[in-house]
Amino acid sequence: MVRWEAVIGLEVHARLLTRSKLFCACETAFGAAPNSKVCPVCLGYPGALPVPNRTAIDLAIRVALATGCTIHAESVFARKNYFYPDLPKGYQISQFDKPLATGGSLEIATRDGAREIGIIRIHVEEDAGKLIHDATGGATDDTSLVDLNRAGTPLIEIVSAPDLRSSEEAIAYLTRLRQIVMYCDACDGNMEEGSLRCDANVSVRRPGGELGTRTEVKNLNSFRFLGRAVDFEIERQIALLERGERVVQETRLFDPAEGVTRAMRSKEEAHDYRYFPEPDLPPLVIDVESISRIREGLPEMPGPRAARYRRDFALNVEDSETLVTSRELADYFERTIAAGASARAAANWVKNEVLGSCNQCKVELRDFRVTAEMLGETISMVESSEISGKAAKEVFEAMATNGGSPREIVERLGLAQLSDRDAIRAIARRVIAANAAQVEQFRSGRTGIFGFLVGQVMKESQGRANPEIANQILRECLDTEAR
Ligand code: ADP
Ligand code: MG
Ligand code: ZN
Repeated sequence: MVRWEAVIGLEVHARLLTRSKLFCACETAFGAAPNSKVCPVCLGYPGALPVPNRTAIDLAIRVALATGCTIHAESVFARKNYFYPDLPKGYQISQFDKPLATGGSLEIATRDGAREIGIIRIHVEEDAGKLIHDATGGATDDTSLVDLNRAGTPLIEIVSAPDLRSSEEAIAYLTRLRQIVMYCDACDGNMEEGSLRCDANVSVRRPGGELGTRTEVKNLNSFRFLGRAVDFEIERQIALLERGERVVQETRLFDPAEGVTRAMRSKEEAHDYRYFPEPDLPPLVIDVESISRIREGLPEMPGPRAARYRRDFALNVEDSETLVTSRELADYFERTIAAGASARAAANWVKNEVLGSCNQCKVELRDFRVTAEMLGETISMVESSEISGKAAKEVFEAMATNGGSPREIVERLGLAQLSDRDAIRAIARRVIAANAAQVEQFRSGRTGIFGFLVGQVMKESQGRANPEIANQILRECLDTEAR
């Protein structure tokens, strides 16, 4: 019997792919010289007025539509007041009680089938600047530095319902959400650079009972850390409860070196922030036409796309999920099929050879020398028995290193499969003549020796004989020709 059930909800921040910041014209360039992308608006100078970035709002709407949220005709920016040295205005412009979108969901694939995870809300907000505490950034023992380039860059916060039940599910949810923001061209998904950051809310309870007290683990910047932090929190909370103690609602930090979470501060409440509507911005009004225009521009999302692969191509969950990892990869797979390959073979080649080769050579798919069209043609040559599977691998290697057309490579390397029955018969006769002892054994009933004789025919043809035809003709010769 399961004594405890984990309950997890994620808050994910995604940096939007805009050229300028959310409320000013400063560039959002990552890695620019510190404090070179700033202006009176994002520095919080008195009297400077914010102007919302249309593209940022459009990108937020894309993600909200892709996750089935309702876009509100009117949403309201609010000031979230707190002091920190990376926040020059003394408040962050965010959204509070009237967010851009609410009530969506996404589907994750689990061991027990698909599960729908609720999305409570998606709102738009600005990022804070960055504090530099380490020596490589120029800080010293008693001095930290502030870089405000990031202050005012646009984010969306995507808040899940407390629907996740394990670290595996939390990872599956974040994986799918990352794919979705990337499919939407809304975020580059780069967790190392902080384009996608995740806070995990964790509690445990008796199965089916009331929600327990939660803790919130901040700023998990990789899938591995998310998994480890959630597992640690679940174990820690269960141990507390089993000892008869209580979970304290608080904000915690994950320490990757030790693999533990540590209390950071007691949990702040909304009223601590003195939220109030941003007086310098009118309500954000979204008209129905823009919503339908944005909806029409959305590509097919990874979940439905993987489901389509399972349905139409009979692929399993693992393969279909691998192929939809990125839009580019899924497009490549479909173009391989369009170029003449069967779906099954295209799936195998793309997930093994193509991904393997890109990985090994450290090239992006878009720079890979073997285009989907070249791969599709190669596979179709195997499927029409023009070349063997082994020869196809050689063709693929040649294309990956030097490019070139598959047909031209088959010709140049003499890889065309031998299907000419007369030529194969001539080889079979030579093999029979040269292996009298084995032929004798075969004829006296040791039919197992047949494999050896076929092998000899293949060898004689330098591996080029069509194996099926070689089999057939050798049998004919052994059965019908003079002893
Ligand atoms: P806050 O903004 O103060 O962090 P919210 O109510 O907006 O609080 O919740 C934030 C996240 O916490 C959501 O993802 C939600 O699903 C999750 N959450 C709420 N209650 C629990 C709970 N008891 N256990 C785990 N997660 C929870
Ligand atoms: Mg929170
Ligand atoms: Zn600015």
